[in-house]
Amino acid sequence: MQLPVYLDYAATTPVDPLVADAMAKCLTLDGQFGNPASRSHLYGWQAEELVENARRDVADLINCDPREIVWTSGATEADNLAIKGVAGFHATKGRHIISSRVEHKAVLDSCHFLEQKGFEITYLTPEADGSIAPARVAEAIRDDTILVTLMHVNNETGSVNDLAAIGAITREHNVLLHVDAAQSAGKLPIDLAELPVDLMSLSAHKVYGPKGVGALFVRRDPRVELTAQIHGGGHERGMRSGTLPTHQLVGMGQAFRLARAQMSEEYQRLLVLREQLLAGLAGVSGWQLHGQSGGGVPGIVNLGFAGVDGESLLLALRQIAVSSGSACMSATLEPSYVLKAMGVDEDMAQSALRISFGRFSTRQDIDTALENLIRTLQHLRQPARAQA
Ligand SMILES: *Cc1c(COP(=O)(O)O)cnc(C)c1O
Repeated sequence: MQLPVYLDYAATTPVDPLVADAMAKCLTLDGQFGNPASRSHLYGWQAEELVENARRDVADLINCDPREIVWTSGATEADNLAIKGVAGFHATKGRHIISSRVEHKAVLDSCHFLEQKGFEITYLTPEADGSIAPARVAEAIRDDTILVTLMHVNNETGSVNDLAAIGAITREHNVLLHVDAAQSAGKLPIDLAELPVDLMSLSAHKVYGPKGVGALFVRRDPRVELTAQIHGGGHERGMRSGTLPTHQLVGMGQAFRLARAQMSEEYQRLLVLREQLLAGLAGVSGWQLHGQSGGGVPGIVNLGFAGVDGESLLLALRQIAVSSGSACMSATLEPSYVLKAMGVDEDMAQSALRISFGRFSTRQDIDTALENLIRTLQHLRQPARAQA
């Protein structure tokens, strides 16, 4: 059987072969398998050097100091550490946090957890294009606000938030800003020497690195203080204990190094694929784009189709692997909470399809998607079908 074409890069990406090679060299007796915390022998020193090189590669992509990078098991853990860590440290200063209705579950569920601990969370409603208007942030800030947590790029729609404008507001009010950048690191330029962002969550597997590793940027100047969430051994300057997984960190470092080298060329290439996809749908009626028509990340295209059932559409698309929204929500038949918050009507939201592509996607892949999609829509929209 022919494998379906993979068009779900926003859920995860395949590991780049160069990344896999680098990782494989950190596992066996003839490689760098040592514990980076072993201070008494060469095995430990060599592993530590690899880990510190990887830390520099991650820092270089977002233009920060390597000492501002705290390794985690992924963006989920980084989000938890940032939000619960700030809440824990600053609870005596205030108990109000601002987030939005379109955040990833890692952020929303951390916020829900804090609500049970007596914190108050304001969930901002996005604009129709999925972005958060900086003015909404300014209106929501109170005397007891300690943190604003918003994503850079939305994982369902590719919509981008204006971090410079939002950060200017949080700085002015002396409120910390945490940004979930799992979908933007390596896709859009991020310069933390310029951006007034205090904490930033990163993930390796959205950018051709392995699953199960990520990092939290924690600014040193002005210094951000956090309460650790995982204890034991005091690794990562006490912010996140646990033996550092050399192979995972080397994988993330290599992935971020490749992303830095290829980002602008890759952006242009994905923009061409996006235009091919949208142009191919020009002759099809009854669809709409959810998200920013220009200016979002090019590799995520979220579409709604009038007059078709979302589940039937997803099941009928045999030649392409796409999703109805985020990977975490695919198990439920509920329309996406992200699209609902954007004000997309029920019908369009329940038939939504997220097509996402990246480094290894080709023009041929987009042609296959168009063929499969157009044929399936014609089939599902036949009047006889609709009555059945
Ligand atoms: C994938 C993703 C996460 C979770 O990252 P993991 O590394 O899988 O834990 C968090 N936020 C956003 C926006 C994501 O796309």
